[in-house]
Amino acid sequence: MIDKTRKIHEKGSDTRNRIRGVLFDMDGTLTVPGALDFAAIKREIGCPPDIPILEYIESRPEWERPSLFAVLERHETEAAENSVPNKGARACLKALRDKGVSLGIITRNSLCSVEKVLRKFDGICKEDFSAIITRETALPKPHPQGVYMAAEKMGVHLQELLVVGDYRFDIMAGKAAGAKTALLINEQESEESPNGPVADLKIGDLRELLNYVG
Ligand SMILES: [Mg+2]
Repeated sequence: MIDKTRKIHEKGSDTRNRIRGVLFDMDGTLTVPGALDFAAIKREIGCPPDIPILEYIESRPEWERPSLFAVLERHETEAAENSVPNKGARACLKALRDKGVSLGIITRNSLCSVEKVLRKFDGICKEDFSAIITRETALPKPHPQGVYMAAEKMGVHLQELLVVGDYRFDIMAGKAAGAKTALLINEQESEESPNGPVADLKIGDLRELLNYVG
């Protein structure tokens, strides 16, 4: 445990002062995980458990997709309305903003859900984010397209950008774009593929980012 902490600290020191922008995943990162019941959505649209939802919908015939998206959007709207800011998320966002760090959100969710979720963040507004990348804006993670777009909107080089998420797709997208990455390990779950890319940082609370950024 001590060794692991030391390792993270060393990597953190290396990362410090090079990061000028932080790009956050939304569900399970800025918000408490579990609001979106992916298994229930998959059951309802007939998506096999091992296939991501958006990729499954895109694989279906064009005529079928609107009804599948409608199911997804119903679940997402409900989840966004019930969402709760994750531990330390508000404090982290406020502190980074006040340090002048450029902020962004990248999600496989819709812009409508992002707007609903951000209303739960007292003292934070949509305008605090230089980039909000949703599935309407870019190809979904793990594709890196959204990370490239975010960096441009945020006015930072990819090497100065930290992508933070709770799932391997976040790390894959960040790594593929050449950004730094941080994996948030929430209390009840850890989602990192053993064969997937390893994040530069591992954190248990978003406030830990303040040790590495700014
Ligand atoms: Mg997530």
